[in-house]
Amino acid sequence: MCPGCAHRSAFFEIKQVYSDAIFAGDIGCYTLGVNLGVTDTVFCMGASVSFAFGFNKAFKLSDKNQHVVAIIGDSTFFHTGLSALIDAIHNNAKFLLVILDNSTVAMTGNQKTLSSPVNSLGEAVKPISIEKIVRNLDIGFLEIVDPYDFKKSIEVLKQSKDYIEKNSSIAVIIFRHLCVNTDEGLKNNPIIKVFVDNDCKGCKLCIDEFECQSLIFNEDTKQVEIDRKTCIDCAQCIYSCPFGSIKVLK
Ligand code: SF4
Ligand code: SF4
Repeated sequence: MCPGCAHRSAFFEIKQVYSDAIFAGDIGCYTLGVNLGVTDTVFCMGASVSFAFGFNKAFKLSDKNQHVVAIIGDSTFFHTGLSALIDAIHNNAKFLLVILDNSTVAMTGNQKTLSSPVNSLGEAVKPISIEKIVRNLDIGFLEIVDPYDFKKSIEVLKQSKDYIEKNSSIAVIIFRHLCVNTDEGLKNNPIIKVFVDNDCKGCKLCIDEFECQSLIFNEDTKQVEIDRKTCIDCAQCIYSCPFGSIKVLK
């Protein structure tokens, strides 16, 4: 995934709250985050939702209370995730559905999604709202959060976990942040410069757990530093150092 990609932030946050879950992934640019610990399966478009439904059914049959999380992108949700979700709701499934909404089809060249008021030919079209669809499906838990907001995201994820346990049903979180690999996304992204301080232990946890390519290990100093050529100054990596060595430059 690109430096500063909000999907990476969402993955990092999901991992903090649902560390014990089984994760059904899907097809899109976020599949590139397969090493971030929240993708156990990838099969075909829409399979995150149908797999989550199937896993939940299997765990129910074996009397196991296992958390299940389906993770799908916005365009894949429109493509085939929606039909699987309807089936899962109809059959009383219980899992968290995360929809990563970057408002573009990033993997294939940033085509427009169905949420856009303009299609890829520049024609005016009727935008389809993901949240309206979810609300109309009578899902009792729907939250929309910017994954760049770490604290809020963690709070919403914890709430979803409680909701799923209490209600034994599906919860939906839409993680919404424009793709930073689009002109509009980059232009609107916050600019917060960070640096790695001299107390860096060189443990590489930030690199292993967060995997931003702009975090690089200096073999001479045995410490991590920021690659200024590729870093987009998003400050999302500050949460990845448990020792607080990645700091905002003031
Ligand atoms: S910045 Fe933090 S997590 Fe990364 S290597 Fe240094 S001490 Fe470890
Ligand atoms: S600020 Fe951190 S997370 Fe953002 S692009 Fe730079 S190194 Fe990556």
